[in-house]
Amino acid sequence: MTRYTQANWRDDDGERYEPLLSEKASQTVEVESSALPDDLTRDSLTLPAPAEPELARHYTRLSQMNYGVESGPFPLGSCTMKYNPSFTEDIASLPAAAVHPDRPDSTVQGTLALCHRLQQYLGDIGGMDAVTLQPPAGAAGEFTGIRIAKAYHDSNGDDRSEVVIPDSAHGTNFATAAMAGYSVVELPSGDDGRVDLDALAAAVGDETAALMLTNPNTLGLFERDIEQIADIVHDAGGLLYYDGANLNALLGRARPGDMGFDVMHYNVHKTFATPHGGGGPGAGPVGVTEALAQFLPDPHVRERDGDGRGDYEYYRPDDSIGKVHGYYGNWPVLVKAFAYIARLGDAGLADASAKAVLNANYLAEQIPYEVPFGPFHHEFVASAAPQDAADVAKGMLDHGVHPPTTKWPEIVDEALMTEPTEGESRRSLDQLAAAFEAVHGEDDGTLARAPSRTAAGRIDQVRAARSPRLSWQALDSEQ
Ligand SMILES: *Cc1c(COP(=O)(O)O)cnc(C)c1O
Repeated sequence: MTRYTQANWRDDDGERYEPLLSEKASQTVEVESSALPDDLTRDSLTLPAPAEPELARHYTRLSQMNYGVESGPFPLGSCTMKYNPSFTEDIASLPAAAVHPDRPDSTVQGTLALCHRLQQYLGDIGGMDAVTLQPPAGAAGEFTGIRIAKAYHDSNGDDRSEVVIPDSAHGTNFATAAMAGYSVVELPSGDDGRVDLDALAAAVGDETAALMLTNPNTLGLFERDIEQIADIVHDAGGLLYYDGANLNALLGRARPGDMGFDVMHYNVHKTFATPHGGGGPGAGPVGVTEALAQFLPDPHVRERDGDGRGDYEYYRPDDSIGKVHGYYGNWPVLVKAFAYIARLGDAGLADASAKAVLNANYLAEQIPYEVPFGPFHHEFVASAAPQDAADVAKGMLDHGVHPPTTKWPEIVDEALMTEPTEGESRRSLDQLAAAFEAVHGEDDGTLARAPSRTAAGRIDQVRAARSPRLSWQALDSEQ
């Protein structure tokens, strides 16, 4: 098994150290005059001024002290941290892909054509009649989709107050429903990790605006009863919302629209291409059935009917829920998604989902941890018990691989939610399996101290999340 030691720069006192750019070289700029009020301005500003080699080395060192999908496998379940082919970056960086948002429709026909074609691609992939590209993330797509569902019910004079969500769902589903003004009805999973039809029938009723569901679910399990689930929700007058984060398992094989879903989002950064994580960037286009299309956000792109001003235009759908972003949405991410879909084509997309599922099943066979629920698709949730899942994750870092998502969903004890993704070779899956194997054999004392071969040791994750220091000044003022 490969031995791994991450780059580890230290100062003379042995403290971890890579100077800030402004510590390496800086220059002070005097500000002469400004139209802004005095209390908002300063007289001088110190800016980093390193020479190019110093700049290049700084970022290279930081990247060596970090771990990314270009360092090795990154099986962070649900997040889909797959390798993104660089041709999509090349296309998103073409001068023609940079367009000023305020240019009139008639001068940006190519841009609008790309939007329109991507709307159609996504509609075909999801089995949806209309797609908006506006929402800038999966979570923003959820919020947009649930607001569309609300607008639909409101337009029927149907005042509903609840959204039903399985207990295994992603946290953003609960947040979305609450932010859209609904109360959340949590649906306990059945013994097989799937939606329990009796529990569902008991949970839905006159107050149900929607059921939010991902399929396969976060355990990687296909909801085999999806047609009955759709009937139960529709019979109660509710809509079916598809959380598209797990579309990688279905791509080119099955479509949420055909399963009875009325509205869905696509996490294009997870399913197609865009390096993401740490808060961005992404895009969360939303697809809807014909009955919901009039509520899509403003602006929307459509084909124009031959008035000579170009073939495509922006317009505001009749009963639009309004703005959720602006202009072209998160444009570079959408261009990458377009490039990826166009390059792969139908056969390539179906191949991607086959490999995503094959890789997850291969890896699960190799590891020493129990996987309580199956058969699964593109991801699986193993149980680290009696080990602590967080210790297992930290231990894996010492073996040069990124760990899986841990401790979620809670229906698996000490969950290790693992999604190798379609991009990994058998060799890198074996590397992952070897890391699982090594950590499985380690004693609790060693694991509790891990990681020891990375640039940063075990960090205080709770403090990092609860009181982040987002600027150098904030850190400085605390010391
Ligand atoms: C990632 C994810 C989301 C949220 O998507 P973002 O693009 O991160 O906002 C929602 N549901 C599931 C199941 C996810 O994995």
